[in-house]
Amino acid sequence: MRWLHAILLILLALPAAAEGPLRPGLAQVDLARSSIQAEGRDRGRPRPLELRLGLSRPVPYRVYFLDGPPRLVVDFQEVDFADQDSGAMPGRDLVPALRWGRFRRGWSRMVMELPGPYALRLALQTPARDGAQGALLSLRIEPVEQQGFVTRGTALSALWDLPEPVLEGDPALPRDAGDERLRVAIDPGHGGQDPGAQVGAISEAALMLGFAAELAEELSRAGFAVTVTRDDDRFIPLEQRMTIARTAGADLFISLHADALPAGGAAGLSLYTWNQQANDRATRELALRHDRDDLVSGLDLRGADSQVVDVLMDLARTETQPRSEAFAKFVVLELRRAGIGMHRDPMRGAAFSVLKSPDIPSVLIELGFLTDAGDRANLFDPDWRVGTAQAITRAIGGWAQDDAARAAVSRK
Ligand SMILES: [Zn+2]
Repeated sequence: MRWLHAILLILLALPAAAEGPLRPGLAQVDLARSSIQAEGRDRGRPRPLELRLGLSRPVPYRVYFLDGPPRLVVDFQEVDFADQDSGAMPGRDLVPALRWGRFRRGWSRMVMELPGPYALRLALQTPARDGAQGALLSLRIEPVEQQGFVTRGTALSALWDLPEPVLEGDPALPRDAGDERLRVAIDPGHGGQDPGAQVGAISEAALMLGFAAELAEELSRAGFAVTVTRDDDRFIPLEQRMTIARTAGADLFISLHADALPAGGAAGLSLYTWNQQANDRATRELALRHDRDDLVSGLDLRGADSQVVDVLMDLARTETQPRSEAFAKFVVLELRRAGIGMHRDPMRGAAFSVLKSPDIPSVLIELGFLTDAGDRANLFDPDWRVGTAQAITRAIGGWAQDDAARAAVSRK
């Protein structure tokens, strides 16, 4: 129910003047519902602090600390601080300084200087209470010794792997201003030191690179803008694949795979959207394979799944997840129309890291399994590949229209 509530909240709280069908308007800060509070009596030493921020709707955010001087940084995607004076924040005098503003396209930042080193104890974004609309972000931090002070560069920030902030007005915007085309990020799975599934001389990495190029061509021909996460046999960590898509301003993310499953594993094309709870055996097996490349690179992010990360991911996904699932349905529909064989249960959920993007609808397509002779034949059949690429292209067109229509309805 909490899930449903959050979705409704997002739909209800969308401001009327959204910028475009895929970009709902910015969240607003409500200072009347915001405050900084200190716990206990002031004895001249740092005290536990609680920051509360009233927002007009839930937003994805991340929290981390920086040193020199110690400060808490909260990045939001995206909050409109323009009309709010940080000096008017209740409890502002409890900290040495408080600043906020937009720091790069799509992101705004709040910086709270701290009287010493702190650690994050709680990060929670909940629906607003007492009949108010929107969301309430609560952060509780407690003083720690200097050696316990964990600053950016840790696993927590690595999980996001966002590019470093740039100054506002940076001319190097990755997406051409005025380019209104839907931008699709195509992610050929694996690459470089991680060849993916291998059957004889065939590697999944090479096969997906080829199919990605064919799909990219179909998409360009149909008038879509395309970004690929790799266009050669190169190793790219999973989180970075999402970052590439995000930096390019992608509206949709499609990861392409053709993995191996042990004998008896089901065959046929299937689509995966994010589902943390998915745990059937084949899916677990695939998750291990997909996530292996991060282990290969020595960057094991599984330990970074802190409560904080989970919370912010869940929140962002309440908005994005239905859109990912809607896209997967369009793909199934178009593949069926094209007479392309699929797994008997083609739409599934999985906790694949590459689907974790909280802000871009993301789908992973297993085009087939290299371990299956029939699937292998398809993957090497130019007609099958063209038919599949065209069906996916039509699905993107159908989904984009549907998605824009839904966004328009939810703004009314
Ligand atoms: Zn794969």
